[in-house]
Order: sequence, then structure tokens, then C-alpha cells
Amino acid sequence: MRVGVIGGGQLARMMVPPAIELGIELRVLAEVEGSAAGIAATAVGDYRDAATVVAFARDVDVVTFDHEHVPQPVLAELAAAGIPIRPGPAALAVAQDKLYMRERLAALGAPVPAWAAVHDASELGDFLAAHGGAGVVKTPRGGYDGKGVRVVRAADGADDWFAGIDEHASGGALLVEELVDFRRELAQLAARRPSGDVAAWPLVESIQRDGVCAEVVAPAPGGEALTDAARDLATTIAAGLEVTGVLAVELFETADGRLLVNELAMRPHNTGHWTIEGAVTSQFEQHLRAVLDLPLGDPAPRALWSVMVNVLGGPAGETMPDRYPIALAGEPAAKFHAYGKESRPGRKVGHVTVTGDNLDDARSRARAAAGFFQN
Ligand code: ADP
Repeated sequence: MRVGVIGGGQLARMMVPPAIELGIELRVLAEVEGSAAGIAATAVGDYRDAATVVAFARDVDVVTFDHEHVPQPVLAELAAAGIPIRPGPAALAVAQDKLYMRERLAALGAPVPAWAAVHDASELGDFLAAHGGAGVVKTPRGGYDGKGVRVVRAADGADDWFAGIDEHASGGALLVEELVDFRRELAQLAARRPSGDVAAWPLVESIQRDGVCAEVVAPAPGGEALTDAARDLATTIAAGLEVTGVLAVELFETADGRLLVNELAMRPHNTGHWTIEGAVTSQFEQHLRAVLDLPLGDPAPRALWSVMVNVLGGPAGETMPDRYPIALAGEPAAKFHAYGKESRPGRKVGHVTVTGDNLDDARSRARAAAGFFQN
């Protein structure tokens, strides 16, 4: 069995160990030489070029993704060549455009923040006036890790984005949402195979700093009351959008205890890295199973608590292994994951996971372990 992964980042890299265990051949189409996933059989080429992508995909059984940015015309050529694509182009279209995502979620009856498509400062001003004078403006396309997301409190707060609107917006509009008064951010991950089976991991809490995921706690502390609702929501969305593979549903828990969907990702997700050690079946193994339409594995946790802390940055030019003599000795219970990237302040170069019976202990160990790399 051969799986082709488009994109050579850390998500493709972390599919390699379960592919080896299961005896699945993994091939990666990376953008550059020396990518994070370069440890797999790697071709280098532009994912926006249909001929390159079709040539790469010719001898794999299924194509899947490390990111959601492959353009629809390229996906259409892949489909025309008879190559199975999972998740499929229609599902990916939802993940590629935040305005379309809002439309489809609303149509499925999923709870979402109040939102509107706005074409100019005057429409933005009208929305702000109707929603307490503040809002969050988002570029529908191309944003990640908080880039393309801005809190605005005045009608002219997104003028620069309106000026460049063709680059990052569909239909000449930006997305504006109410500024949600949230208690915390949660994530519900599930995997769905083409035949329809869905397996969901426990609801987790994600702690964001400067728009970037910093820590994940699994399961979400005190989240029992929300567990069923979150699982049902992810199952409804996965089925309604016919997602195949891992679906991540990023959620807000509002100050008054409701769940609202912030974003969807249709691939393994940072909030699921804890599953490598913390669940019977990791998100990377489950993604491979799901896209190959194999029976799904048990998503049950293997520990009471798992805490994942991202390694963000560190001195330029270093790599995580440079500091292993000290870090590995300092926290022997921590599991270290390095993405084969050079450090740069703020860049996600790896993560650390600690599991155990005591949340405070696991959290402080995971933070200490990640801290060895950070300055
Ligand atoms: P990205 O695609 O860059 O991850 P998101 O849409 O997930 O962007 O937004 C990034 C972060 O901005 C979120 O994790 C959240 O902390 C904050 N945010 C996004 N939308 C809202 C909103 N409507 N209200 C309040 N905070 C928001």
C-alpha cells in the first residue's frame, strides 16, 4: 500500500513512524530540499503545478495532505487522472476558505460566532456597530497561526486588507466575526473513513499565545459536561462535509458555557500531537488508516493526563538535538519530538509530551522539558 502526502512539513514527518509500523509505503511531495519530512521517500516539486502533482501521484494508492493549500484546479486534474484524494476536493474547499467554511457550518446547524462577509469599511462599520463595537477580521484564504486574523474596533481597521483584497479573499470580501468572550479554547479531533465510520479522541484544551498553539491538555480539564456535545459536533461535521482522514474542530468555550466552532482543519493537527504517546491510536496512524479506508484504531487515552508543549523558536541556527545532552537528562519522563528544522524565534521546531496520573506534575514537566530549547 502506498500513500502519497502532498507537503513536506512536520505533519508528513510524523506520519512516517506509523507507516513503518504498519508496513505502508509513504511518499512525500515536498516544496524544498531538506524539508521536515525529508526522512521519507521525497520528491521535490510545486504543489500548485498540476503536472508535477499528477506525476507524483501516478503510482500511489491514495493522495493525502500535510496542508490544505493545494489549489482546486490541481485537485480536479488529480481526480480526472483517477487518483483517490482524501480528504476529497469538496471537503478541502471548506478548509481552504474561511468564508465558505462559515457558510457550510451554518448550513449544517453547527454553532458559530456571529459573522458576515464584508466588502468595504462601511460594511465593516455596520457589523461593528451591531456587535458591541468590536470584531475579528480574517482573510478568508492563506492565513495560519494567527496571520490573517486581526481584532478591529473601528471601521477603517482593515483598510490595508481591503486594499489588497484579491490576494487573500474570495469574491472580494473579508470575514468579520463577533469578538467572542471565551473562557478557553478547546479542540475536538475525530477521524472518518470513506465508508463512514468515525472515531473521536477526547476533547482537549488548547492554550494559544499570540495566535499560536502553545500547550494542549488532554482531556480538557473539567470538560465532562461538554464531551458529548463536542463529539456529536465533530461527527456531524465530518459526515456532513464527507471528510476522510483526521478532522480537527477548533472550538471556543464561551463565558456562558456554550461551544462555538472557530475553525476546521482536515489533516492531523497540533492539538492532536499528544495522541502519539497518550492514545491507543495516534492521529497520524489513524489518518493513514482512514485515508486507506482501513478499520480505524481505538482512540481511547492511555493515561489519565497528557500535556503537550510546543517548542517555539530558540536561538537562530540551532536545532533541538543540539541541546539534548541537557534536556534529555533534565526530564527523562518527557517524550521529545524534533521536526528537523533550524530554530528561529517563534518558529515551531518541535514539541514535548508528558503523560501521567497528575495533571500539575505532567504540565510542569512538559513545560520544563520544552523550556530547555527556548532561549
Ligand atoms: P488561524 O487560521 O491563523 O489559526 P484562527 O481563525 O484560528 O486563525 O484564529 C487564531 C486565534 O485568534 C484563535 O485561536 C483565537 O485565539 C483568536 N480568535 C479567532 N477568532 C476569534 C473570535 N471570533 N473571537 C475571539 N478570538 C478569536
